[in-house]
Amino acid sequence: MDGVPMFREQNGKEFSGMLFLLQDVTAIRRLENMRSEFVANVSHELKTPVAAVKGFAETLLNGGVHDEKTAKSFLQIIFDESERLNRLISDILDLSKIESKQSPMDYAPVDVSTFFGTMMETLGTVARKKRITLQTDIPDELFIEADEDKLRQIFINLLSNAISYTQDGGRVELSVRDQQDADGNEQVVFAVSDTGIGIPKKDLPRIFERFYRVDKARSRSSGGTGLGLSIVKHLVELHHGAISVESELGIGTTFTVKLPMLQEQDGV
Ligand code: ADP
Repeated sequence: MDGVPMFREQNGKEFSGMLFLLQDVTAIRRLENMRSEFVANVSHELKTPVAAVKGFAETLLNGGVHDEKTAKSFLQIIFDESERLNRLISDILDLSKIESKQSPMDYAPVDVSTFFGTMMETLGTVARKKRITLQTDIPDELFIEADEDKLRQIFINLLSNAISYTQDGGRVELSVRDQQDADGNEQVVFAVSDTGIGIPKKDLPRIFERFYRVDKARSRSSGGTGLGLSIVKHLVELHHGAISVESELGIGTTFTVKLPMLQEQDGV
């Protein structure tokens, strides 16, 4: 056979043939695209607050502002945008740590009622400023095995969003109950509901994507980074749980987190 390589085995027998190496490059390419899209998004997100800080500082430095009130409002913008930058950087670092699996789980029993008691005190201050009623419905004596810091990050994100995206005078509620899943395993179901602005149906499937925001202007004015829900989803999955969302525009939103009561001993 012309052009077909000959192979000789140790026993002297000869045979001919070809070796085809087929590799599916679509998955690799998709990953590369996602990575470069992420870098482009990160650069864009960082550039916006930096440009604002630079612009307003420049105007102040050039003596372009003559009254104290305007100068103060410019300084406030510089301060707010620096805070946003800080939040963005820490969210990006968190996300990259979680995604590169550099964030080992530190499981321990958590008393759910005590855990939320402290958190609600902190969030209550924010809610009171907007006259939002913060309610909880948590049974006593409910324990879950979880990484407490990561659990806190999940619910601070969900509850702060609920407060941010609810108008003054609205209501935010956290309810917790235990139940058995379809396979008879014990699980804890956490529901964070609000009477806020809601999420349009078409946006719901994309809500957990990095940097995805329903309304950029609205999210920016509330100081959001667009990374919170993406981090939440990762953290829930690290606990072998699941998250879902239901929402009605103008009526409100409910995020439901289901976590197994006891984690598998898999050393994650
Ligand atoms: P952000 O930092 O912008 O809040 P998130 O990832 O936490 O980013 O949320 C993504 C988007 O989902 C938000 O920009 C907002 O449009 C929408 N969203 C999240 N939670 C709620 C909620 N409780 N009610 C209405 N919209 C919400």
